[in-house]
Amino acid sequence: MSAFDAYCALQGMLEGAAYVDEPMARHTSYRIGGPADLFVECATVHDLTETFATLGKWGLPWVIVGKGSNLLVSDAGFRGAVVTLGRQFKSLTLPDEHAESGRLVAGGGVLLPNLVQSSFKNGLSGFEFAVGIPGTLGGALAMNAGSAEEWIGSKVATLTVVRPGEGLVRYYAEQLAWDYRSAGLPGGEVIVECELKVNRGNTAQIRARMEGVMNRRKKTQPLTKPSAGSVFRNPPKARAGQLIESVGLKGYTVGGAQVSELHANFIINNGSATATDVVAIIMEIRRRVKEEHGTELQPEIRFLGF
Ligand SMILES: Cc1cc2nc3c(=O)[nH]c(=O)nc-3n(C[C@H](O)[C@H](O)[C@H](O)COP(=O)(O)OP(=O)(O)OC[C@H]3O[C@@H](n4cnc5c(N)ncnc54)[C@H](O)[C@@H]3O)c2cc1C
Repeated sequence: MSAFDAYCALQGMLEGAAYVDEPMARHTSYRIGGPADLFVECATVHDLTETFATLGKWGLPWVIVGKGSNLLVSDAGFRGAVVTLGRQFKSLTLPDEHAESGRLVAGGGVLLPNLVQSSFKNGLSGFEFAVGIPGTLGGALAMNAGSAEEWIGSKVATLTVVRPGEGLVRYYAEQLAWDYRSAGLPGGEVIVECELKVNRGNTAQIRARMEGVMNRRKKTQPLTKPSAGSVFRNPPKARAGQLIESVGLKGYTVGGAQVSELHANFIINNGSATATDVVAIIMEIRRRVKEEHGTELQPEIRFLGF
């Protein structure tokens, strides 16, 4: 198993690019994370196919990463390949401008904020709930991102993935077991495209709903500091943030990481945080909440390299 061998084998094969020892702090919203042995930006489906064949040949584990806005990467980095989506996966096609409803077709690498803004500018309603959620559409779909009331999975008509070794596979939304922060996809598949159901709406009303959501976020979330959003899933009939606050951990600090004073389910990077600092806070929160409430909080963020 050698990342360098795989890197050499990929040279001249890709429209995208491959790098060795790529610092993951550059690719996460936490601004934390050591190097990935190999980092491959796939520009096309062909790139993905060639990459998976090469990684398979060299026995290198891999993970698909979007914008890393729900990800904590270890300080030691990842002994494998991080795969990301490039050019071909960033296109967005809006439905016919005269249709009352239709399908918006977008690549897995489209930034969710761009999708939300394009929908709004074209008078399409349905994504107001997602304003302020960073990351890619692929990441949002994999995480079934959303709020307590609305989530992206409910907007999906079809979803296309690349299944390594097999190629493109299309799912109808009903075939997937959408759940709280999960699309129910089998592991090891890469979302490359999605058809989303949209309706035409009144632009002023869409704007008002978006402003409402954004104002709530600004009041309740520490948006000026690096974070990965909510760290823990809300347990049934409870709010993780309230449980953390109730055990007195708001402001709790380890090294450069801190439980946000504004929203206790956010752990922020004050500038010098390491993954070790964040993990120490996560463990202390779990210990205290379990001790005082008997609840085992489960992380919502994904971990890489631990
Ligand atoms: C300030 C802030 C606010 C946030 N608010 C919210 C919120 O309100 N609601 C919410 O749900 N989330 C929220 N998040 C979390 C995060 O933004 C979302 O989960 C986002 O959708 C993740 O997208 P990403 O591209 O960054 O995914 P990443 O963090 O890169 O990856 C997340 C997971 O998705 C997988 N993945 C990524 N791309 C693909 C793909 N193409 N195919 C298959 N799997 C893939 C990864 O392997 C990983 O397991 C917030 C984060 C921040 C920093």
